[in-house]
Amino acid sequence: MPRPDFPKTIFEFQQWFPDETACSKFLIESRWPDGFICPHCGGREYYWMDKRGLLQCTNCRFQASPTAGTVMHRSRQPLTLWFNAAYLVTTLTPGLSAVQFQRQVGLNNYETAFTMLHKLRAAMVRQGRDKIGGMIEVDETYIGGERPGRVGRGALNKVIVAGAVEVRGTAANRVRLQVIPDVTGATLVGFIQEHIVEGSTIKTDEFRGYSRVAAAGYHHIVTKELVHVHRVFSNLKTWLIGTHHGVSPQHLQAYLNEYTYRFNRRGTPMAAFQTVLGLAKERMGPTYAGLYGVKKGEVKWKHPTNPIAELNR
Ligand SMILES: [Zn+2]
Repeated sequence: MPRPDFPKTIFEFQQWFPDETACSKFLIESRWPDGFICPHCGGREYYWMDKRGLLQCTNCRFQASPTAGTVMHRSRQPLTLWFNAAYLVTTLTPGLSAVQFQRQVGLNNYETAFTMLHKLRAAMVRQGRDKIGGMIEVDETYIGGERPGRVGRGALNKVIVAGAVEVRGTAANRVRLQVIPDVTGATLVGFIQEHIVEGSTIKTDEFRGYSRVAAAGYHHIVTKELVHVHRVFSNLKTWLIGTHHGVSPQHLQAYLNEYTYRFNRRGTPMAAFQTVLGLAKERMGPTYAGLYGVKKGEVKWKHPTNPIAELNR
């Protein structure tokens, strides 16, 4: 069954998901894309118990919940509210604050808005475990710092963030961002090794911290042209200041993860929508291994475990 496209406007979205029944139907289809299979007896037919929001197997009467394993499970909030929240979180480029969400949907309770957004966000803080590869721009930047520090590398009171941007043709593809403790060669090469497939081409500036990149098994190009990674840093800083009014150092990595998540899924809003709702099958888009083939003896990239399960632990 071909996966449905994604609503292009909020008007279209509301036509798709006008009520609880429409949302339930979507959950059932996402859950069982090839049709319902009873987890108890393997039966394929069911009754829909509208009032209780459960499916009941026609054969053995087992009752299955279409929200099990999702952020919506056992929530007192209606599915339409969850769907609207997920839509706003995944389609608004900068995301939204709990106050904005509370106003948008007319919730009385700030706590409810805060908790719902927090749960949706928790599904996006997991970074892909696969490495990026091919042509990569790498650089570091300094974020925050309320007291004036020295300018440039080594500025005080600022958090250092390393960034890597995978470039395909003339466009940025995927990004990796990480808080790093210093700009020594060991740290910078460590960042590269953690996130980038060996043998890739790494573009950096002439900073000495990158002098060991070639020795670590990469093709190293020193250049001043680091357009993509500079643009990512610039947009990241605008986002941190504009939407979140600055971020404390101990939480910065979570925001970097959220930014990375939005960036890497900007072309696939349906996948992002389903992921934040916890409709399990993490669809990360093509992986490096998937694109270039897995070498013999290498371990095939595994899908990350269900983030919602971890959340509920
Ligand atoms: Zn059954």
